[in-house]
Amino acid sequence: MNPRYDILFEPVAIGPVTAPNRFYQVPHASGMTEANPRIRAAFRETKAEGGWGVVSTGAVSIHPSSDDSPLPFARLWDDNDIRSHALTTEAVHRHGALAAIELWHGGAAVMNRTTRVPPLSPSGVPWAATHVGFMGHQRPRTMSEADLRQVIDWQVAAARRARSAGFDIVYVYAGMGYLGYEFLLPEYNRRTDAYGGSMENRARFVRQLLEATRDAVGADCGVALRVSLEELRGRPSETHESEAHELVDLLADVPDLWDVKMDSSPTDCGASRFRPEGAHEPVIDFVRRVTDRPVVGVGRFTSPDTMASQVKRGVLDLIGAARASIADPFLPAKIREGREDDIRECIGCNICISSWHDGVPVRCTQNATAGEEWRRNWHPERFEPAGSDGPVLVVGGGPAGLEAALVLARRGYAVSLADRREELGGRLLFETALPGLAGWARVQHYRLNALQQMANVELYPGSELGADDVLAMQHPHVAVATGSRWTRSLWSPLEIPAGHLERPGVYTPDDLAAGAEPEGPVLVFDFDNYYLGGVLAEHLADRGLDVHYATPAGHASAWTIMTNEQPFVHQALQKHGVGLSTLVRLAAFDGRQATLENIFDGQVHTHLCRSVLLVGHREPEDALVRALQQRQDEWSDAGITSVQAVGDARAPGAIVHAVYSGQEYARLLESRDATRWLRDQPVTPESVDEAYPDASSPVRSVT
Ligand code: ADP
Ligand code: SF4
Repeated sequence: MNPRYDILFEPVAIGPVTAPNRFYQVPHASGMTEANPRIRAAFRETKAEGGWGVVSTGAVSIHPSSDDSPLPFARLWDDNDIRSHALTTEAVHRHGALAAIELWHGGAAVMNRTTRVPPLSPSGVPWAATHVGFMGHQRPRTMSEADLRQVIDWQVAAARRARSAGFDIVYVYAGMGYLGYEFLLPEYNRRTDAYGGSMENRARFVRQLLEATRDAVGADCGVALRVSLEELRGRPSETHESEAHELVDLLADVPDLWDVKMDSSPTDCGASRFRPEGAHEPVIDFVRRVTDRPVVGVGRFTSPDTMASQVKRGVLDLIGAARASIADPFLPAKIREGREDDIRECIGCNICISSWHDGVPVRCTQNATAGEEWRRNWHPERFEPAGSDGPVLVVGGGPAGLEAALVLARRGYAVSLADRREELGGRLLFETALPGLAGWARVQHYRLNALQQMANVELYPGSELGADDVLAMQHPHVAVATGSRWTRSLWSPLEIPAGHLERPGVYTPDDLAAGAEPEGPVLVFDFDNYYLGGVLAEHLADRGLDVHYATPAGHASAWTIMTNEQPFVHQALQKHGVGLSTLVRLAAFDGRQATLENIFDGQVHTHLCRSVLLVGHREPEDALVRALQQRQDEWSDAGITSVQAVGDARAPGAIVHAVYSGQEYARLLESRDATRWLRDQPVTPESVDEAYPDASSPVRSVT
């Protein structure tokens, strides 16, 4: 290990427990609930195995009045939920890490759709400002003092259950719009009793939650406070630099650990397109000066130098990570082994957070094994040996081809990777040169760096392969990862395909990637609705063109609400002077003007433009795979046993899908585990757990 990083491996005391090092996987949503406890345990265990000294759960509801459905959330409502969590603590402890649990009450930010309990809040003010603004209509009721005492009792009961389940650190949560946080902000807390008014009063409920938790489990468990400070930091205080300073001062030595963060998901879990590594520092940098308790914070840290600097400069004691630990669960181990160049760095695309919004277990662009550790037996660092000696040919060096080649090579196959372009990276080469996307180049850099060091890999850039070439190369297995192409097709308002717009002046992203320069003014018509349409509008505006963006959706880059990018997309377009039309379809373009039609009332307006950039539908680039399939009778002479389309050539998708497809192809090829796809099920008091036999009963008895 580089001695510069020794500091990261120092132990840190958190109340009665000690973290073995400073790598702290903070609580983060994983989409894993009591419905899939083995998937959850294996996901968290992999991080402990990879060297994270503390591994936390995501939010764990303490009572049915905190029900986030349809968003996935974990639960510790009664003793029957203890065993389910014990799977995780046992798994984490196997590797010497501490297990932390984020006990959570959502207050007015949850809608209790399943339990149908009226949400609780300090003053009946709804949490309407969530970034998933379409999520609910239920308004909260105002808590009486008896309600407050009851929530504290629920927290205590949950803390005791958490201890019984084996957790070492127990959280009180006062962040991100949830109940504790609502008490801190006067806009949500209009109370005139001892819990409202001054900062001291507004902090009283959080203080009582902390004290009650400490009284209940503090002899055995560290008690952590997770608090959002962004809003309070901006507010003046009569006695302190800001209300955030005042709050931390008031509660300085009440928790054993301060876990400090931002207030809303788009700022807390900011996408790299708009927020750099370490973006939280200006908000949370003061906390460590006000309290002598350890402080953990995040910032999508992937560089060990940045991490060491955070500790040395006195910003943080523990390096918190959610995304960095998803993208590379073995990040600490790689630093410890002096292999920091092997770290698979998070790219900040926020596909992980979109999985939570989608209501499914976490997916990661960089780490295709995330969430598949138990179900498919995919370990991020261990690979089943190759099923035969035969070399594998991978055609296409985009994310799918690179991932397939790397995993195949790690399994021990001899791999030939060919791409027609002089540089490997596929779609990433063009896209990562666009505004805000440079950080995504880590997808190809990580894989290429690894491939270039492997003796069993031959890279053939600048090599376009046709069916004759592939047959002549005589590789038993051929993965065709030749990508996809953007089409000029259009869709009707009823979402039925509606022909193609084929005429001069109409471009696709592929044309721009190939160097075409549209004449301005340009209309970008986007019904792909992910990032590319918005990014290309910025790109063209950067080139000095007059750009207008139109979409049938209600927002620009509408799907990016799932990745926390959406609020910033509109800001970026405005900053670039890009005009915006929503809820329209492109009805016609004659080379001088485009006809845009409102999707609801058909009202037409024309937009003067010389070019149209269509960002809509993609089709697989599968000519090679089809040509090879047609010549199947020649395979045995060529020594070929399998030909398979991979990534976009199989089914176009986002980069995360291409990487996953490459991983899946390489894992399943001649694999003993080819059919493994386990179904998880809830842990019931009666269930015998084969995967985690040690954890089939609570670790400590319920007290
Ligand atoms: P994916 O996202 O599925 O990885 P990409 O479009 O990013 O797909 O990458 C596909 C790659 O395949 C591109 O770099 C392209 O140059 C390459 N390619 C396509 N057809 C051929 C071919 N016949 N021979 C070699 N390389 C090809
Ligand atoms: Fe990072 Fe993207 Fe993976 Fe999330 S999905 S951990 S942002 S690489």
